[in-house]
Amino acid sequence: MGGGHAGPPLQTFKRNPGVPDNPVNELRQLVADLGQLLRYQRRLGRLGVEREDPAPSPHQAPVVPLFPTLPEIREELGDCQRCKLARGRTHIVFGQGSARADLMFIGEGPGEEEDLQGLPFVGPAGQLLNNLLSKLGLARQDVYIANIVKCRPPGNREPEADEVNSCLPFLKKQIEAIRPQVIVTLGRVATQNLLDTAVPLTRMRGQWQRYKKVRVMPTFHPSYLLRFPQERRKTWEDMQQVMELLTRYEEN
Ligand code: URA
Repeated sequence: MGGGHAGPPLQTFKRNPGVPDNPVNELRQLVADLGQLLRYQRRLGRLGVEREDPAPSPHQAPVVPLFPTLPEIREELGDCQRCKLARGRTHIVFGQGSARADLMFIGEGPGEEEDLQGLPFVGPAGQLLNNLLSKLGLARQDVYIANIVKCRPPGNREPEADEVNSCLPFLKKQIEAIRPQVIVTLGRVATQNLLDTAVPLTRMRGQWQRYKKVRVMPTFHPSYLLRFPQERRKTWEDMQQVMELLTRYEEN
């Protein structure tokens, strides 16, 4: 995000309370913060160390995956004609990022640029999302980004109920395949549809929710933040909560 208020990545991690403000303790705190950041990034495979799944014992029966993989879900989606959005689309925007991401972002639906490229959040709102990620020390390939609907609604209108109903089962399968620790829903449409609620975003933003067993942090949509930059600080604060939870998860 380009708000100028947000700190560098090391400041995104929880600080130990009660550290006096002197240079030696500042340095100690920086080293502790750096340790947290490195552990989190190693978990993401960012330091040349692949995240490890436990090695299967030679005596174990082969594990049959419970859920379809992302390529299988993409194949099932095919040249989707399940709703009227298919007629106006250039590309299906399936989703992008790591199939093993701990952190998933869900937006509303592709805009013009996303429809042209077949990728989520590559227009102006995507630029803001990229800035946010980079300030958190993350790259797009560390997370997974998807939308409630995979085809562009005409004129960027909100997706209609029948369109959401056709498309959402695929997103839910993607969530099952990825098994993220945290989902960040971007905006009202993503939040209400994923959580199947009519509670206003203003009441859910910044408050932990759950989708099945996955923790969900609703926050503002980047397009809203482009129009109301003064609200960026709130999204930054929501993301601090997300990073703290991911760090705690990494430490356990
Ligand atoms: N807005 C969204 O909700 N999703 C995108 O992919 C792009 C813009």
